[in-house]
Amino acid sequence: MPNSVEARDMAYQMHPMVNLRKYEKSGGLVIESGDGIYVTDNTGKRYIEGLAGLWSVALGFGEKRLAEVAKAQMEKLPYYHSFSYKTHGPSIDLAEMLVKIAPVPMSKVHFTSSGSEANDLACKMVWYRSNALGKKDKKKIIGRIKGYHGVTIAAGSITGLPRNHESFDLPLDRMVHTSCPSYVHFGLEGESEADFTKRMLKDLEDLILKEGAETIAAFWGEPVMGAGGVLMPSDGYWAGVQAILKKYDILLVADEVICGFGRTGKMFACETLGIEPDVLVVSKQISSSYMPLSAIIMNDHFYQPIADESDRIGVFGHGFTASGHPVATAVGLENLKIIQERDLVGNAARLEEKFLGGLAELAKHPLAHSSRGIGLLGALEIKPWADANAGDAAAAIAAACQDEGLIIRNIGEAICFCPPLIITAEQIDDMFGAVARALDTVQAAHA
Ligand code: PLP
Repeated sequence: MPNSVEARDMAYQMHPMVNLRKYEKSGGLVIESGDGIYVTDNTGKRYIEGLAGLWSVALGFGEKRLAEVAKAQMEKLPYYHSFSYKTHGPSIDLAEMLVKIAPVPMSKVHFTSSGSEANDLACKMVWYRSNALGKKDKKKIIGRIKGYHGVTIAAGSITGLPRNHESFDLPLDRMVHTSCPSYVHFGLEGESEADFTKRMLKDLEDLILKEGAETIAAFWGEPVMGAGGVLMPSDGYWAGVQAILKKYDILLVADEVICGFGRTGKMFACETLGIEPDVLVVSKQISSSYMPLSAIIMNDHFYQPIADESDRIGVFGHGFTASGHPVATAVGLENLKIIQERDLVGNAARLEEKFLGGLAELAKHPLAHSSRGIGLLGALEIKPWADANAGDAAAAIAAACQDEGLIIRNIGEAICFCPPLIITAEQIDDMFGAVARALDTVQAAHA
């Protein structure tokens, strides 16, 4: 059908994160509407959104209060900027709230529009700060293999996934990567989890010593790695990392773009895992992604030298047209109020056992290897059949889930789950019921 929505999409739109040649031929699934944890495509088929869009729609797809706040703000002040000694109410209100709910004492908030932008700018701020302190050689950043921090030039460089580097001429020279602390994936034969953690910490310290501690400004990490495949840090990992960073005077930036605002059963994963960052990067669930919004939340130790440097130069020479956008920040504030009013952080904590228990049940399927997760974030590791290429089995199961009315994401050999925080116990049963049927279908096809 030359004029169908699908055909026009293939003709005019270049999509992210696809094989572009394949997309030109096959197109994509056209989603038309959403309500609660569900989305509906243009044929009327309804799906559970098991990944909350892109790990982000905490309130589900039909929260009227966010639409009302956006409309009211658009009518009152649809746009204003925050350059040149101007400001406005919604950004002030949200900044105050973020400082008040932060997991550790924080002093300032700077708004951006995406997770990548926030990480990119946080990196620029790290460099600016090192210059302010007269440490001109202390600029390197340590990211982690399989870590994901976005796709802009600095954030993409801190990211530790080859697909985000290859042919983009990344990473930048200043970015180095240490090991991924997922025991399930990188534990050696016969190695205990405690020994694995020791090895991860030694890898980190060895890297710091090899590069020279005086050249390293910051360490970047997601408390729980998301886009790398929901990879859990091993026991004792974060405590050990923080001790090493303190020893060598290296800043800690926690990227809570996925984990923040309730995903792990506490408001921030830093609370769940005992992490005390200098800088906290948040996005996604900050506005349930109803509006593009992200924020860099920083402590005084981080902020003060930056303020001094701007004073010396005369200006902090950075800003976006949309920094602190009034509609985005108004929606973000209302979204966080709803998360608090409905105790959705508590919902994630209360449903954790059921959610992880359901995944563990699915892990008994012959096509499954193991399960993992925290709060309402989880993954089922798939056991590929003999002649399957890496990732094919998980992709086949994700496709079968879609046939069953469930959208989830396959990453490597895992299928990943991150449902809206409004999900109920019954809906978790529905979601995993669809996965069980998908596993059976795929197994029957490959028996
Ligand atoms: N950081 C983390 C931990 C993420 O998971 C993501 C996106 O998934 C980003 C940063 C990048 O955010 P964005 O896609 O909004 O640029």
